[in-house]
Amino acid sequence: MPELPEVESVARALRAALTGRRLTGMRVRHAVCLEPSAGAVRRAVLGRRLDRVHRRGKYLILTFGQDDPAPAHLMLHLRMTGQVLFEPVDRPDRHVHLVLDFDGREVRYRDVRKFGRWTLVDDAENPSALDHVGPDMLEIRFAAWADRLRRRRAPFKSVLLDQGVAAGVGNIYADEALFRARVHPLRRPADCDEAELRRVYDAVRGVLRLAVEHGGTTFLDFRDFHGQPGNFRRKLRVFQRDGEPCRDCGGELERIVVGGRGTHFCPVCQR
Ligand SMILES: [Zn+2]
Repeated sequence: MPELPEVESVARALRAALTGRRLTGMRVRHAVCLEPSAGAVRRAVLGRRLDRVHRRGKYLILTFGQDDPAPAHLMLHLRMTGQVLFEPVDRPDRHVHLVLDFDGREVRYRDVRKFGRWTLVDDAENPSALDHVGPDMLEIRFAAWADRLRRRRAPFKSVLLDQGVAAGVGNIYADEALFRARVHPLRRPADCDEAELRRVYDAVRGVLRLAVEHGGTTFLDFRDFHGQPGNFRRKLRVFQRDGEPCRDCGGELERIVVGGRGTHFCPVCQR
């Protein structure tokens, strides 16, 4: 599943290639990916200039006609297997559901499982569709983040994954951050002192930034905009390494299930 770093890679690619260009064509092959309907999306954005690409957590918001009286905001959520491809595909690909033509530059939306959505929303910064989603993890300041955590009694791993607290932290990066912060995944934020919270905050942001630099993590379905897998996987220290030695202490890494999610950690380094 694409996480914040992968979505940020897509945001940067879209910004670099398309901002300032007009959407001159739109071919829809699978209308279910467009909300509220293909017709409504077409009427709102076709013929207009893409002025801005904003990311909040794992959501991208494309703003068309920013200086017009009524700009249009189209939100993209890639969900499980959504991909944005800039390269033409060699042969007919039944998983390409949408082709957007920006004045001669084509972008394809491919989605094997068809859970991804392009949705018209009412605002770029704070669309009501994202009322349940907290501030972006790379944007929120420590004091505000700590305030949201101080009384939480759920395991730290679950709190990091709670998108209402802060948006964009998924399973891989939560495990990696807790290892780097030396905090056990079952430890509760309410029991942590300021220094521990600070370590986790810095670690989460550090891991996310590192992954952004490396174009995300290679896993099943994510490919970046050129169809290349991300290469952050080589930097993973605990994720899916259970049974292997910890790179810091040599002890055996373990896997437990926390809140229904596979969780990887070092029982020696993380207490
Ligand atoms: Zn260790």
